[in-house]
Amino acid sequence: MIQSAAITSPPKAIASTPELPRILAVDDQPANLITLGAILETMPVEFQTAPSGPTALARILERDYDLVLLDVQMPDMNGFETAKLIRSSHRTRHIPFIFITALNTDAHFIRKGYELGAIDYITKPIDPAVLRSKINVFLQLHTSNSALREEVAGLKNQEERLRKANKDLRHQAQTDPLTGLLNRRHGHTLLCREMSRVERGNQDLSIIMADIDHFKNINDTHGHPAGDAVLLEIARRLTQSFRPHDLVVRWGGEEFLIICPHTSFAQSLPLAQRIHHAIRDVPIDLPSGLAIRVTISMGLAHTSTLRGLSAEGLLAQADDALYAAKRDGRDRIRVAQV
Ligand SMILES: [Mg+2]
Repeated sequence: MIQSAAITSPPKAIASTPELPRILAVDDQPANLITLGAILETMPVEFQTAPSGPTALARILERDYDLVLLDVQMPDMNGFETAKLIRSSHRTRHIPFIFITALNTDAHFIRKGYELGAIDYITKPIDPAVLRSKINVFLQLHTSNSALREEVAGLKNQEERLRKANKDLRHQAQTDPLTGLLNRRHGHTLLCREMSRVERGNQDLSIIMADIDHFKNINDTHGHPAGDAVLLEIARRLTQSFRPHDLVVRWGGEEFLIICPHTSFAQSLPLAQRIHHAIRDVPIDLPSGLAIRVTISMGLAHTSTLRGLSAEGLLAQADDALYAAKRDGRDRIRVAQV
């Protein structure tokens, strides 16, 4: 029999192992909790108790339980009310429970229990074999749920890896492999985006086309590794010299496009001069140990809403200005004629 008056305190929780399903028994009679503990003692579960509905709710909010054995008849808050509250919280609504009741198995009570989401029902006095078999059914469910959860976690991992691989691929598709700068295709896309902002009247836009002077000579004289070292160093100095929101693109072999959003002509010229000096004033170290002085020529073009230029039109102007800089002796900046 479960109503043993001699026992006054609920049983201590069985030693907790994190992997075991955690069961919370809720009953206002300490003797019942002891009986439940004794029945479940041999089962692979972590058993804990609560003497009332409110205490149970507090426990459930503190840590996750896999199953709640819920006495129906309790003072203050009965089992149905407790179940309703468990169901009402987003954090706890997934927890299954089995009602334990001394009430007769009146269809009304059973229906009420199932409506609240009970997975099962058991009547007092508890038949240990019946309770164990119901818990066993739950344990099997729990095991397959855990396996499913693991599978879902595995899928999530896979999804995460795919997302990262996609991101890497996108990065590769947008980046020049040698210098790490934006590649021409992506640079062109970004230029068109900035041009549409110009069209909407939201900004002034300046672009700078820059080309390394006599780059073929560097390759011919010092070899291709030296040429690569020069490209890398110039890419680094360009990136460092411009502002964070400027876009530096490797446009061609030794040609770079710098897109300067929200930049008037008056602001863009000092920027171009600064980068011109950053490159010519400090020799570049080659892998051979030699350091050589490298210069660049630059063509600057600017547009704003009133000018109505296309991206190609603006690029052509910067190209023409660059050509003029080359023609006039290289190592200089020329501004597009408007
Ligand atoms: Mg009771």
